[in-house]
Amino acid sequence: MTLSSSRVSPPLAAGNVAAGPIRAAYVHIPFCAHKCGYCDFASLAGADHLADRYLDALEREIERVLEGRPAPVETVFVGGGTPTRLTAAQLERLTAMVSSWFPLVSGGEWTVEANPGTLDRDKVEVLVQGGVNRISLGAQSFQRRSLAILERAHDPAEVVRGVELIASRFDRWSLDLIFGVPGSTLNDWKADLSAALALGPSHLSCYGLIFEKGTPLWKRRRRGEVSSVPDELERAMFDHTVETLETAGLSAYEISNHARPGHECRHNLIYWANEPFYGVGLGAAAYRNGERTVNTRDLNAYLARIEAGRSPIGPRERLEPRARAGETAMLMLRRVVLGIDRAEFRLRTGYDLDTLYSDVIAKHLQRGWLEDDGRRVRLTRASWFLSDAVMVDFV
Ligand code: SF4
Repeated sequence: MTLSSSRVSPPLAAGNVAAGPIRAAYVHIPFCAHKCGYCDFASLAGADHLADRYLDALEREIERVLEGRPAPVETVFVGGGTPTRLTAAQLERLTAMVSSWFPLVSGGEWTVEANPGTLDRDKVEVLVQGGVNRISLGAQSFQRRSLAILERAHDPAEVVRGVELIASRFDRWSLDLIFGVPGSTLNDWKADLSAALALGPSHLSCYGLIFEKGTPLWKRRRRGEVSSVPDELERAMFDHTVETLETAGLSAYEISNHARPGHECRHNLIYWANEPFYGVGLGAAAYRNGERTVNTRDLNAYLARIEAGRSPIGPRERLEPRARAGETAMLMLRRVVLGIDRAEFRLRTGYDLDTLYSDVIAKHLQRGWLEDDGRRVRLTRASWFLSDAVMVDFV
């Protein structure tokens, strides 16, 4: 149950809502070797010949967003797509561009996403020399059958080769894995986690497969060619993930993310605190000056608009303070350790958490789905898998 707006105090004066320099920048590189069957990201295969033109456009967009002045940030995340699909020379140009426009403050985190089969020693060296200090590798599975259903463009051995290249030059790196692939068993998933842990990552992201509407995999399910795994199996896979990784020293710090202490992804923590961030490139989302924007996902339109001196921004949304507070609560709840810190929530939104949500909090405390130590409210372990049912009451 949510409180009616008539019972909600107005936010504090705008000056009390945390402001200050934007701390994070996201840069999107859309090129991929092949379009995976479950993929709903702004990515495309067969367009590598446009990569140099894309980098030209990207720099023009950054210059436009920053109004010609570099913006130091604490975290940069270059995602995709597959950034490492670019050639070594293009990656060199990209890292030079990013570090000149978004220079990292001392001790900052710069992550680049990579996919198995797209890395070699030259590219790894370019990334290291360019200032990148964290890699996120899209392993997804070590099972040939699951990789085939997901239509991934690599085999398990390429994940291992990719990790060897990365681990020789980076202390901080992560693997992405997907559970709940059609036809997979709990033993398959246990084998995936064991194979991942054997490689020694300091961070793992483990997401349940989502059948995004319109994707080839979603169409296959509609035609009855594949099916979702049963709910109980998905739950067992989730529980096994949390327990196994906890035992291995990679505790969950977000519902789907696990890390050794100090190896949490700082960039994503900025998203989950609902802080503003820059976002540039095809389909990139940004959150600045209280406004959320999303760039066009059409590569030709993106290039044409920027080359004509126009903005690539498509949809825009400016949330009212009360709606933004609800969004902030929902995002902070994803942080299973930090939860919603009352002081941080007040600083970030201008609202008192209990004024907005005392009924919601009481309801879920009683159910055993939230816990409250006076300083912060967070999900109980029992509710992690069902977190949507709690979050929905906050928005
Ligand atoms: S590699 Fe990633 S971004 Fe590229 S098509 Fe596959 S899932 Fe999508």
